[in-house]
Amino acid sequence: MKRNLLLTPGPTQVPPELCAALGRPIIHHRTPQFQENIKQAVEGLKELFQTKHDVYLLTSSGTGGMEAAVCNLLSPGDVAITVEGGKFGERWTELCNAYGVQARVLKVEWGKVPTADQIKAQWKANPQAKAVFITLAETSTGVTPDVAAIGEAVKGTPAVLVVDAISGLGVQEIKTDSWHCDVVVAGSQKGLMLPPGLAFVSASPKAQALIASSNNRRYYFDLREAKKAMEKIDTPFTPAIGIIIALVESLRLMKERGFDHLFKHYARLAKATRAGTKAIGLELFPQESCTTNVLTAVKVPTGIDGEKLTKTMRDTHGITFAGGQGPLKGKVIRMAHMGALDEYDVLTGLACLEKVLHEMGHKFELGAGLAAAQKVLNQK
Ligand SMILES: *Cc1c(COP(=O)(O)O)cnc(C)c1O
Repeated sequence: MKRNLLLTPGPTQVPPELCAALGRPIIHHRTPQFQENIKQAVEGLKELFQTKHDVYLLTSSGTGGMEAAVCNLLSPGDVAITVEGGKFGERWTELCNAYGVQARVLKVEWGKVPTADQIKAQWKANPQAKAVFITLAETSTGVTPDVAAIGEAVKGTPAVLVVDAISGLGVQEIKTDSWHCDVVVAGSQKGLMLPPGLAFVSASPKAQALIASSNNRRYYFDLREAKKAMEKIDTPFTPAIGIIIALVESLRLMKERGFDHLFKHYARLAKATRAGTKAIGLELFPQESCTTNVLTAVKVPTGIDGEKLTKTMRDTHGITFAGGQGPLKGKVIRMAHMGALDEYDVLTGLACLEKVLHEMGHKFELGAGLAAAQKVLNQK
C-alpha cells in the first residue's frame, strides 16, 4: 500500500487510537451517555483554550465557527477591524462583507504580522468598531502575531477581540482569558488530529453581551441557542456524534502527553524543518521574528515549478505538503508541524523534498537538509 503521509496544515493525520474511536457504533445524541461525552469534550477544550467561559461545539468546518463569530457578535452596518496579511485574515473581511458589516482593513505585508500598536492606531481611527478580528497562526504565510500584546491593546476599548485559532490550537499556546481574547475559534482537523467536521467557539462575558445585542439574522449558527443547549449539556441540532466521541479521546491523549510538552514538541519539529530547508538553499517565506511553529513556509527556488514539486511528492511518493494559496500559488511550499507527527515524519518529508528537488534540477548536496535537521533533533 502506498504511503499517505500528510504534512499538510489541515487535515492532519488521524492516529490509530482515534480511528478506533471514530469506528465505534453510533450512539444517540439525546442520551446521558452522549452527554458525558459533551461534558468531557467541553472540559478538555476549556483547558486547552485556557478559559473558564463557555466553549460551544458546532458541527461545521472551522469557517463555520468564524461565520458564527461574525453573525452573532455584529449587526448590519456595524464597523469591525480586520487584518489582511494572508488568506485567512482575508476570510474575516469576506465574512464581514457577507453580513453587511463594514470592515476597516489593516493591510499587512504577507509574511509579516500586525503589531499591537498598529491595531491600536486602527482602533483610534475607527473608535466605533465593535470587534477586532485576528489570526493566531496565519496558515497561508506561516506567521503568528503577539496575541497577548494585541489583547492588552483591545481590552480597554468597547471592542471584542476575536481570534482565529483554527490551525494553532493544540500546536502553540493560546491563553484565551489572560490574553483577553473574547472569542476564540478552532476546528477539529488540525492540532486535534480528527477528521474535519467540528468547530469550537469560546465566548467571554464581553462577547456574550454583544451576542445578546446583535440584531443580525442567524439560525444554524445562533450562539444564543448553543448557549441555551449547553446549559442542559446538549446541542441545538444533531452534532457530529462520532467526532465528538473521538474528540474526548484526542483531548485525553493530548493531556496525557501534556499540552506544554506538545507545544515544545512542535517547536522542535519546526526548528528542525527550518534548519533542514535552509541547508538545501530554501529561504523561509515569513519574517523570521514572527514565524510560527505551526507550519514552515519556504520559498520555491527560482526556476522550479512549485506546483509540480508538491504534485510529484504526493502522487509519486505519497507525501503531501501544501503549496501556496492566492498570490503565493506555486511560489511557496508549506510543511505542517501539527497533529500526530514525530521527528521521523519530518525527516521522511525532508528526504522526499530533497529527492524531488534534486530531480528537478535544484543544486545542493543531497542529504544536507537531513543532516541539518538531525543535528537539531539530536540537540540535548
Ligand atoms: C484551516 C484554516 C481555516 C479554515 O478552516 P476550514 O476548516 O477549512 O473551514 C481558517 N483559518 C485558519 C488559520 C486555518 O488554518
